[in-house]
Amino acid sequence: MKAGIRLAALFFLIALIGCKDATKKPSQAGTDTVSRSEALTLKGNFYRLHYHSSDKIQAEKIAQWLDQGRSEVIDFFNSDFKAEFDVSIFPNRDSLDTQWQKDWNMPDFKSQCWMVASGIAYRLDILSPRVWPTQACEHDSNDEEATRKLILHELIHVYHGQHNPSPTFDNIENIDWLVEGIAIYACGQLDTARYDRAKNTIIKGEGPVLLANIFKGEHRYGYSGSMIKFIDDTYGREVLNQLVGLTKADEVLAVLAISEEELIDQWRRSFD
Ligand SMILES: [Zn+2]
Repeated sequence: MKAGIRLAALFFLIALIGCKDATKKPSQAGTDTVSRSEALTLKGNFYRLHYHSSDKIQAEKIAQWLDQGRSEVIDFFNSDFKAEFDVSIFPNRDSLDTQWQKDWNMPDFKSQCWMVASGIAYRLDILSPRVWPTQACEHDSNDEEATRKLILHELIHVYHGQHNPSPTFDNIENIDWLVEGIAIYACGQLDTARYDRAKNTIIKGEGPVLLANIFKGEHRYGYSGSMIKFIDDTYGREVLNQLVGLTKADEVLAVLAISEEELIDQWRRSFD
């Protein structure tokens, strides 16, 4: 049961934005370079960034995005991180898998090629964008804006974990849509195209009618992000910030003083 919860948590914490082709087999190119490189740590204002010398350029860029991301997090939530945390840039997928196997107590876990990053209260893990061309799919390391948003997305999970009674999101109940929705919405990944794709299915009468089904299927990020946008637009940022500290959907509904059916109905009507 625990492993099941952990697996669910892992999957929704991993950046899998816009992934369709999970069949491409990533190669392990780059491993030799790593065995010759040195493990280094860069001490930031609110994080410790661990990387290999082969990823010096990536580390400098990511440090810049983390610093910028902190300001964006404070602007959005009107609150800062509670504690320092570790950021690790993994030089190849094997080393990332080893970390995730340990974190989630799943010794046989093998990540898929679209899984490149994750975030919980204590740590942010990322596969070095240097190896994305050969060891990842659906992510373009040349697209710096998309990569910056991906880092910010995970940074928001770290913030969320630090302000939630379940820092690793192991003990949450039916709020995967909230956790992912806040990250997508606050980092700017709910772009017009994603929003419109979700909107089109809702207008056609498709789409989820239960909170448990919002973060499911092809449009899960569009549904989750637009639900958070609806809550933010309707209830305001202060209420949205209150939801960050909750672990159960029932608590969320109580704060919003609404039934599940009514919330879903109002959200669906917000697309009209
Ligand atoms: Zn996420």
